[in-house]
Amino acid sequence: MPYSIKKDLCISCYACEDQCPTKAISHNEEGEFFIDPTVCVECEGFYEEPQCLAICPIDGCIVKLSEVEEV
Ligand code: SF4
Ligand code: SF4
Repeated sequence: MPYSIKKDLCISCYACEDQCPTKAISHNEEGEFFIDPTVCVECEGFYEEPQCLAICPIDGCIVKLSEVEEV
């Protein structure tokens, strides 16, 4: 199950984007950040913990896709 960014909590700090080993994270011109669920591998094979989750300063901003109400 890939991770997802909760739009209402994200402060667009850009910290996560460069951390992703598979380049699953991107943002649009409005500064909204997204994780491509077909590209996110939960950092498996790269790191012991999800790097986006580790660096994100906002608790609860990055969650499993299954925990996001609006998909
Ligand atoms: S969990 Fe890892 S692979 Fe998935 S978006 Fe976050 S940094 Fe990228
Ligand atoms: S690290 Fe968290 S708050 Fe910062 S851009 Fe990424 S998801 Fe948003």
